[in-house]
Amino acid sequence: MRYAIFGDIHANLEALQTVLEDARANGATDFVCLGDIVGYNADPSACLEIVRALQCPVVKGNHDEQSSEPSDLTYFNPLAAQAIQWTRDKLTQEQKDWLRSLKFSRLVRNFTIVHATLDSPASWGYIISDLDASASFSYQHTQLCFYGHTHVPRAFVRDLRVTEVPPTTLTIEPGKKYFVNVGSVGQPRDQDWRASYVLYTPAEQKVEWRRLEYDIATTQSKIIAAGLPERLASRLSEGR
Ligand code: ZN
Repeated sequence: MRYAIFGDIHANLEALQTVLEDARANGATDFVCLGDIVGYNADPSACLEIVRALQCPVVKGNHDEQSSEPSDLTYFNPLAAQAIQWTRDKLTQEQKDWLRSLKFSRLVRNFTIVHATLDSPASWGYIISDLDASASFSYQHTQLCFYGHTHVPRAFVRDLRVTEVPPTTLTIEPGKKYFVNVGSVGQPRDQDWRASYVLYTPAEQKVEWRRLEYDIATTQSKIIAAGLPERLASRLSEGR
């Protein structure tokens, strides 16, 4: 059994297809989605249908929430707000109902999944420091939890204290807890434009981050053709 765990797709169809192909080629048997399927890029409907067809565990992201509810967008930055409004117009009511039905966190086999944080999953806080991670760890009842939201792949490990580890390959050791950010499929923000996701193999207790080049030029031209802000296209190449 091998899980492909991915999130923050943000309506980037080319990146999503590349990730799913790579996962299957690398023996993934199960898929898990950490939310933010839509928002920012130009293929919300296609990405939603692909994820839904996987019939895998999915948790809700803040863009999934905002794109499926008629709330006001004051607290979003102007670029995100513009993209959310555009996305609302593209999704059917039935697709919005599906997004709305997603839970904030879930237990999958013996690990937890959440989009943002476990201490307050519906508040969409950002886990950036060891201190943020400590707060989330106090609500983590499994050894391993996967999350997204910051679009920056990394992991926090709690032993005697909390430390951050880089996104290479991680072996899950007894007595420690792990909070693993899988990075973003569709809009990475760690100065690396390539799509990011994680393969988790329970039998080996191994977590492996994958980075993949995809057809970014097509994604960018779709953003422009859709009339979305040009900055949403240029930021993809910069990985931020
Ligand atoms: Zn996101």
